Amino acid sequence: MNMRFDPMGAALDLPRLDREKVDPVEWDLRVQLAAAFRLAHHFHWDLLTYNFISVRLPGPEGHLLINPFGLSYDEICASNLLKIDTEGNNLIDSPFQVSRAGFIIHGAVHEAKPEIGCIMHVHTPAASAVCAMEDGLLPLEQEAMVFTDKIAYHGHEGIPLGTDERKRIIASLGDKQFMILRNHGLVTTGKTVAETFLFMYFLELACRNQVAILSTGQKLRIPPAEVAKAVPAQFVAHDEALGGVGVLQFAAMMRRLDRIDPSYRL
Ligand SMILES: [Zn+2]
Repeated sequence: MNMRFDPMGAALDLPRLDREKVDPVEWDLRVQLAAAFRLAHHFHWDLLTYNFISVRLPGPEGHLLINPFGLSYDEICASNLLKIDTEGNNLIDSPFQVSRAGFIIHGAVHEAKPEIGCIMHVHTPAASAVCAMEDGLLPLEQEAMVFTDKIAYHGHEGIPLGTDERKRIIASLGDKQFMILRNHGLVTTGKTVAETFLFMYFLELACRNQVAILSTGQKLRIPPAEVAKAVPAQFVAHDEALGGVGVLQFAAMMRRLDRIDPSYRL
């Protein structure tokens, strides 16, 4: 690994793991996670160097892959992702650190729910708009209906800096797969990077759609509750029949990244 590190020149000389020394399963997950960061940048979900997407590695240790704090999402590649434990301790030799303060949400959820493979958290203008609405996400259109009865809400306690908020985040999440952090942002979880990415794409799009729909000022038609309630299972069944939730879409987006800049694979 190249350990020369100058924060001001980080993009020019990123430290990298030696691929030959990394477990093949971990390497594959590193490539997928790096792709998720590049896609988050591609879709304008990133916030300078803030926020996280995290992946749980197989095994009882519960180790995680996560972005090194200080890198732009478009600088992230497979070999510069950090490996940490659920407390945020760095497990590989890297000049980068995880932002422990910002890691509160991810650490809490990964620790409490080992079945979750990936967690994604974003702030976008449309997400912020919906996160500020008392009634949250409304079943106004098909993308939003994918999340009918699937979203938990967690009240804002200020920037999550203290570990004592962890238990309240877990209590708020309950058995839901997705969470709206009120006055803050969106969280999606999934078994795979592909699933987690796909649901974030749909959730962020649903927020944009809700803002657009409400901006018309027109009288709105809300679909019957039984129609909206059926959509999540219909959506998952459709994708499961085609290889898994988000599998084809994520593969297509990785091909798009390969056409734009394949350096996430390094
Ligand atoms: Zn946030």
